[in-house]
Amino acid sequence: MAKIVILGAGIGGIPMAYELRQAIGEHHEIVLISKGDKFNFVPSNPWVMVNWRQRNEVEFTVTDYIEKAGIKFICTGVKKLNPTENKLVLFDESEINYDYLIIATGPKLAFDEIEGMGPEHYSHSVCTIDHAEKAAQAWSELLANPRPAIVGAAQGASCFGPAYETALIMDTDLRRHGIRDQVPLVFVTSEPYLGHLGLGGVGDSIKLLEQEFIKRNIQWICNAKITKIKKNQLSLDEYQADGSIKQHHEIKSNFNMILPAFKGIDAFIGLDGLINPRGFILVDQHQANPKYPNIYALGVCVAIPPVEQTVVATGAPKTGYMIESMVTAIAQNLKAVLNGEAQHTQASLNTVCFADFGDGGAAFVAIPQFKPRQYDWFYEGKLVHYAKVAFEKYYTYKVKNGISEPFYEKFIMNMLGIIKTHDDNETK
Ligand SMILES: Cc1cc2nc3c(=O)[nH]c(=O)nc-3n(C[C@H](O)[C@H](O)[C@H](O)COP(=O)(O)OP(=O)(O)OC[C@H]3O[C@@H](n4cnc5c(N)ncnc54)[C@H](O)[C@@H]3O)c2cc1C
Repeated sequence: MAKIVILGAGIGGIPMAYELRQAIGEHHEIVLISKGDKFNFVPSNPWVMVNWRQRNEVEFTVTDYIEKAGIKFICTGVKKLNPTENKLVLFDESEINYDYLIIATGPKLAFDEIEGMGPEHYSHSVCTIDHAEKAAQAWSELLANPRPAIVGAAQGASCFGPAYETALIMDTDLRRHGIRDQVPLVFVTSEPYLGHLGLGGVGDSIKLLEQEFIKRNIQWICNAKITKIKKNQLSLDEYQADGSIKQHHEIKSNFNMILPAFKGIDAFIGLDGLINPRGFILVDQHQANPKYPNIYALGVCVAIPPVEQTVVATGAPKTGYMIESMVTAIAQNLKAVLNGEAQHTQASLNTVCFADFGDGGAAFVAIPQFKPRQYDWFYEGKLVHYAKVAFEKYYTYKVKNGISEPFYEKFIMNMLGIIKTHDDNETK
């Protein structure tokens, strides 16, 4: 009997536990360890920021659901990994051994890389439910006392979809409150152009997002490197294609939501061969680490190179569709290893994502992530908003009910099929 420990009960870790249980049966022990006993459906956090969702709608305790599936659950996080001894040290100093380890610990948010950044200082975030709730308070204050706001993504960020999403949701909410004319909105981003999305653009993303921003009077600054955030002011350097500074900006703002760059969590710092310089876990084509082949990784914590070099650093997004294909690859490869067979399953690493705009939305599909692509399209329309709501409902159902089949793929593909058919009919 093998003991398999999974770290992280997030979008990647929980489906990993269920799918692995189904793949390898009851004979092997599976332990899921997370920091806390809650699951947060992260993609809904922008709705929490504008008070369209409450905490209890996007976060819930998972212990009972996990244990019902025959998986042991420990909610004391991991402080240190000792991969040569196959051992984990938890925050309460207890130790756990494993035969196989699967890491799905998501990102560490690199607020410390910019002076004054982060919810402890002068910018908000929607990356965690705590951050989104804090931002919601400030948002309510802004609605009561309208003033300029900034939204965007910092240098080194990889998760651009939620930055656009939050900008457009803010715009929608301000219009609903009848105060959009009193809140100038500026979008700042490290992307070289609007709609780059860390992917070098997807389909018509450049044209469509520019049109949407123009239509909604959202100003933007690309190639932006934020230098400092102070109370009521954000400073940034705007770069030119040759790498020189085009302009220094100091923008007055009373509300900032800036998505930070990501890095790997502290538990793996210093483990040469396990992580890259940003702390992301190195994996081979089977999602296993080359130096420690009994360690697998999935989700945002995995090292993936940028799709292309940009003047100001950007990373490649790691979204739910891609994460689910990593889950399936690990479940199948570990099953093969336990049966004494060769590993053969590879994650598809494609990007499919829905971004909600509050009163509409955008779906983008990049298959594969690197160009040239077989499928490269971007659709904007009301249906995406409904698809995103459905995505939230189905995903939380999956987490609560232990459904292990990768139905996210089927769900997304069905929704994309509906959207595309609708789109084709509209253009006829
Ligand atoms: C605001 C936002 C919106 C997004 N929207 C979308 C979207 O609409 N569609 C999409 O496809 N993707 C979206 N993404 C991208 C991606 O799908 C999410 O970031 C997703 O949550 C990543 O899943 P994950 O499992 O890698 O990490 P997470 O979901 O962040 O899970 C990490 C888990 O690890 C645990 N953990 C952390 N440290 C430790 C430790 N020391 N010990 C043990 N456990 C630990 C955490 O508690 C958590 O349970 C979004 C991302 C953000 C930030």
